Amino acid sequence: MRRKPVIQAELPKSARAVFERKVVARARRDGDCVISELQPSRLRPEIYIGGLVLKAHCWAYAIYRGNIPAGMCVCHSCDVARCINPDHLWVGTQLENVRDMVRKGRRVKPQRLSPALTQEIRALAVSGTFSAIGRQYGVDPRTVAGVIRGPNARRPDTRGPRLERRVPAHLRKRPPATTITPDLADAVLQAKGRERACDAAKRLNVGVSTIYRIWAKASPAPERPTAPGMGGGL
Ligand SMILES: [Zn+2]
Repeated sequence: MRRKPVIQAELPKSARAVFERKVVARARRDGDCVISELQPSRLRPEIYIGGLVLKAHCWAYAIYRGNIPAGMCVCHSCDVARCINPDHLWVGTQLENVRDMVRKGRRVKPQRLSPALTQEIRALAVSGTFSAIGRQYGVDPRTVAGVIRGPNARRPDTRGPRLERRVPAHLRKRPPATTITPDLADAVLQAKGRERACDAAKRLNVGVSTIYRIWAKASPAPERPTAPGMGGGL
């Protein structure tokens, strides 16, 4: 659905010449239809001319027929998506387009692959990309992906178990608090000034906050006694 209208009078000056050179000159005739051969992997090729990107058939409509009002689609009376014959194009709303599609029985039904084909595609999965396999069998790459990865898979799940992620931090089970024995407190105190808190925590198997708590309670490290009157100088 296009939001902005395409006004014929506002098309880039070069639009017609460029379109004819780039698109029409390279198109193929098929009966009455003029089939654009650009971007063969796309159902509806998009062309960039003078700062404006439109699908090829929309360019054809805007150049040879007239304005495309805001929110309207350019539809094919011939049902050939790549056709750029302006005589085969009409402008309608998305709803009209869908109704036209349904009326003509052109509605795309989700593909169902036979089990045999599914097997075959899975066997190919190691060697080819989804789009390459899709082209070979005339199947949408997403269908191929669905067959290979399973219908609900989007990407390999590298995250941890989901349940754990959903539990808010304050509700998560916390490890039981460590009892600080005098020995442990001593060990923590010994680490003060020699080790980083996180290293000490790891080594002594206590929380970092425990380390800091003990360090904070402890009196500051005893300073080297300086005799009065010496001014600290040595
Ligand atoms: Zn046509």
